[in-house]
Amino acid sequence: MEPYRVRASSWASLFDCAHRWEGTHILGMHMPSSPRAQLGTAIHAATAAYDEARMRGEAIRALDVVPVLVDELNNPERDVNWQADELSRRDAEAIGRNLLSRYCQEIAPRYHYVAVELEVVPWLIDCGGGIVIEIRGTLDRSRARADGAGGVGICDLKSGVNAVSQGRAKTKGHAPQIGTYELLYERTTGQAVTLPADIIGLKTSGAPEVATGQIVGAREQLIGTDESPGLMDYAADMFRSGLFPPNPTSHMCSGKYCARWRVCKFKDDQS
Ligand code: SF4
Repeated sequence: MEPYRVRASSWASLFDCAHRWEGTHILGMHMPSSPRAQLGTAIHAATAAYDEARMRGEAIRALDVVPVLVDELNNPERDVNWQADELSRRDAEAIGRNLLSRYCQEIAPRYHYVAVELEVVPWLIDCGGGIVIEIRGTLDRSRARADGAGGVGICDLKSGVNAVSQGRAKTKGHAPQIGTYELLYERTTGQAVTLPADIIGLKTSGAPEVATGQIVGAREQLIGTDESPGLMDYAADMFRSGLFPPNPTSHMCSGKYCARWRVCKFKDDQS
């Protein structure tokens, strides 16, 4: 049987609502992107262009990558429903310019990146019963950083209305993705990830803010032991059984974010 091919960047959302993940990535249900999600895509593309240029040793300013931001907003590769929320294209560009400038001036200089959105060596996971998952693609929106003393860690950029709170980047709920990226980085480069992960938050609502937060020990959630299974064991069970459980308490359980929402009998639409 052919392996299930899974993009590395989508893998962690399996552990938020597996039913939604199945809808999108196995059953092929799609919906247009929201303006704020497209703003996130535009900011991530521009910051990646900036960091890649710095990694190549080029002199670069935030202003130089503004066209990347603007192009992503004006010519998105996917459908965007600009009526989906209150954010207009013009406001999205203003917020994006602000966050891009602050990222380049306040955050990027703190780090020495050694990889930006690294393409990973595919990872085959045998679930038993002839079922195999292949995780592949790139570490989207992430960088690897070095501390100059042999240590390496993952930095993951997160944008959104709640990405920063009280001067710190929100880290809650991000450990599965960070753990997956750490394992993929190690398998791809052969180098151990020894530093804690940094979440770089880019808040897209109200007064735009940038801040960082730290996650330690994310890999332990993924990998099980004899005494206690890890998330990869739960994932293997889902693929082997074909049962992808719903999570109506997910903060993404909304017609705005879930392509399965309209037909899902588990959604909580009473609130
Ligand atoms: S509607 Fe809610 S419970 Fe159903 S698949 Fe979507 S996120 Fe999961």
